[in-house]
Amino acid sequence: MTNPNNILLARTNLKSWYANHARDLPWRLDPSLYGTWLSEILLQQTRVETGIPKWHLFMDFFPTVGHLASATEDQVLKAWEGLGYYRRATHLHKAAKAIDVAGEFPKSYVDWLKLPGIGPYTAAAIASIGLGEGVAVVDGNVQRVISRWEGITDPVDGKIGAKAVQAAADAWLDHADPGNHNQAVMELGALICSPRNPMCKRCPLSTNCASANQPDMWGILPAKKPKKKAIRWDLTWHIVRYKNFTVTIQRPETGVWAKLWAFPETQPSNEFNPLGELMKPVTHLLTHRRIEATIQGWEAPNKAAIDVYASEIGGEVLTWEELGQRAMPRLATKIFSDKLSKV
Ligand code: SF4
Repeated sequence: MTNPNNILLARTNLKSWYANHARDLPWRLDPSLYGTWLSEILLQQTRVETGIPKWHLFMDFFPTVGHLASATEDQVLKAWEGLGYYRRATHLHKAAKAIDVAGEFPKSYVDWLKLPGIGPYTAAAIASIGLGEGVAVVDGNVQRVISRWEGITDPVDGKIGAKAVQAAADAWLDHADPGNHNQAVMELGALICSPRNPMCKRCPLSTNCASANQPDMWGILPAKKPKKKAIRWDLTWHIVRYKNFTVTIQRPETGVWAKLWAFPETQPSNEFNPLGELMKPVTHLLTHRRIEATIQGWEAPNKAAIDVYASEIGGEVLTWEELGQRAMPRLATKIFSDKLSKV
């Protein structure tokens, strides 16, 4: 572990840098526990630029935790549409209900951890920023800053490396102002100590950093375990239609796109007129999957036939306008943006 005097200097320099360079993010301007919690959930796996408009949208639709708790799951999923990782939305909704029943927000890191969708990182962020509790946050930005500064070469997503980063983050923590300290390290990772071209010359931590001005170190730190190859998924969606009606089906409760509305993967019977492929196959990437999607079209002979087909597969017959109100995977809204955007 680094010399305590060096840590003290780094902490002081970081503090004054943050005071001058923190971004005016909306949840920082008029801070509330609800707004902080929402921002932390939205920003998991999502870029800040994408998270800001969604945060405003959520605050408009569900201005308090009570509004969020009393919304339907479909309303929450619809508001979340486009962000991916929809389990975050269902967990957020469940947590809102639990808070609403309890009648108050959790009062500590340990209590936040008990809510759905709240792991150690999120609990530490909310508890330190929203409650002033002295817990160190470790996210991807913090891992990068600390592993470079301390020269930690073990993979940060492995046991030894993660422990080393957490120990350093704990040692760095400014207990007098944990919320701003944690945000300062994350902000430095986002704005200065970036993955490819960190700006060491403008960095308040450069004095004792093990990687300052060393491109060969930036390329290897933070070290990560080898990535698993994305699994290929050959997906066929059957667009079964009659006039302006089409068939939609809700995805299972678990797995990819859980509970979102998509199109049937079951081919209709021979009485339907095949229209062939409606477009060229589409490639769509998820974190661990590469989807190769084929879109087959079918014309139903009459309304009764499309109704029977939908009921046999557990789907629903909707107009495109109605379908546009449902929460759908990004792949579906991307492919059918013309039809759905007319809603
Ligand atoms: Fe990152 Fe460079 Fe700052 Fe070290 S000096 S923390 S490598 S930006």
